[in-house]
Amino acid sequence: MEFELNEEQQELKKLARDFAEKEIAPIVEKDEAEHKFRPEIMRKMGELGFFGGVIPEEYGGTNMGMLATLIMNEEIARVSASYGLPFNMQTIGPGLVLLKWGSDDHKKKYIPKLVSGESAGCFAITEPNSGSDVVSMKSRAEKKGDHYVLNGTKTWISNAQIADVAIVFAHTNASLKHKGMSAFIVEPKKTKGVSTTPIETKLGLHCAPTGEMIFEDTEIPKENLLGKEGDGFKICMTMLDNTRLSCAIRAVGVAQGALDASIKYAQEREQFGKKIAEFEMIQDELAQMYIDIQAARLLVYKAAALKDKGVRCSLEVSTAKYFAAETAVKVTNEAVKIFGSYGFSSEYPVERRLRDAKSFQIVEGTSNIQKVIISSYLLGKRK
Ligand SMILES: Cc1cc2nc3c(=O)[nH]c(=O)nc-3n(C[C@H](O)[C@H](O)[C@H](O)COP(=O)(O)OP(=O)(O)OC[C@H]3O[C@@H](n4cnc5c(N)ncnc54)[C@H](O)[C@@H]3O)c2cc1C
Repeated sequence: MEFELNEEQQELKKLARDFAEKEIAPIVEKDEAEHKFRPEIMRKMGELGFFGGVIPEEYGGTNMGMLATLIMNEEIARVSASYGLPFNMQTIGPGLVLLKWGSDDHKKKYIPKLVSGESAGCFAITEPNSGSDVVSMKSRAEKKGDHYVLNGTKTWISNAQIADVAIVFAHTNASLKHKGMSAFIVEPKKTKGVSTTPIETKLGLHCAPTGEMIFEDTEIPKENLLGKEGDGFKICMTMLDNTRLSCAIRAVGVAQGALDASIKYAQEREQFGKKIAEFEMIQDELAQMYIDIQAARLLVYKAAALKDKGVRCSLEVSTAKYFAAETAVKVTNEAVKIFGSYGFSSEYPVERRLRDAKSFQIVEGTSNIQKVIISSYLLGKRK
């Protein structure tokens, strides 16, 4: 068991931190207020190899692994949760799905551009009436000759309006329930019958595009089926087992950003003739924030290290995701308290982090769903 980052990991952490401070920090507050996403930032992240860690070299990656990737993901999320998201949308989600279930042609065609940030990826599971209960989705794909015809509405899809490559889930035989779900590659910008509408009413993550995707008699070449018909549920759950970890480390990053800002503020702000950092109750709050973040990070690192060893670790992933998401909300909430009235102001850096942190309790399976998964292991329903 190794508890210290090695030299390479420390360098990656520094690379990502420097990038976030130099390229994202100066524009993030204004862009968040304007709900503006900059594709050029994602592209630069791709060029620096941020998305290639989980991808082999033959497809443009560096093969450094999940832990190395998450170390960078945390540093980006420390400054901006919105720009932490592309790690998932590019390779931890679609990239790894294509690597495992795509044909050689799919891998060559799509993965290198997801790694470089030339193409934007997305995955579309959620529907207006189907969230946690994935199998209840209404989207249908019917095979007709050499293609499938897809109909359905997906909502809350990160990158919906900018995606070049989408992994879309639909039933090919709904009567078989989870065994009747399938996964397809769709190129939304090049395919007739795909339209998108942005969701502009989000609480947070304002620099991250989110939207609805509507499929109306959308023709998908039969070669774009991933795996076999009926593999969709397995593909979806395997993908979420990876994307959950990125979500967890983003939560750690957001919490760390809030703690760093709180430490600085507590050493500047004076009340009753002294810095508020001298009050024991503020010290207690800072210490508790630190303790929770350390614990959350270790849980994520443990699950990532197991993944890098090829060990199945859904229990560890859900434990890390649950704890990190709850920690992010708790820590950012404390940060807002430490900032007093300025914590309530969008001119200061902590209210954004509290709003962004709430997303971690919802995405990639809600906190309740993580506890459903964890308890199913405890009760012997899963092994
Ligand atoms: C910012 C953002 C980005 C997103 N990006 C994507 C994306 O890229 N792709 C995608 O497909 N989806 C995406 N989603 C959707 C997200 O995955 C779903 O919102 C999530 O799975 C929860 O589904 P729901 O919102 O329909 O909630 P519901 O499933 O309706 O849940 C409502 C409440 O009931 C609880 N609940 C439900 N079932 C149970 C149960 N069995 N036991 C106990 N409690 C339960 C939940 O915990 C929750 O509190 C995104 C959402 C957000 C907010």
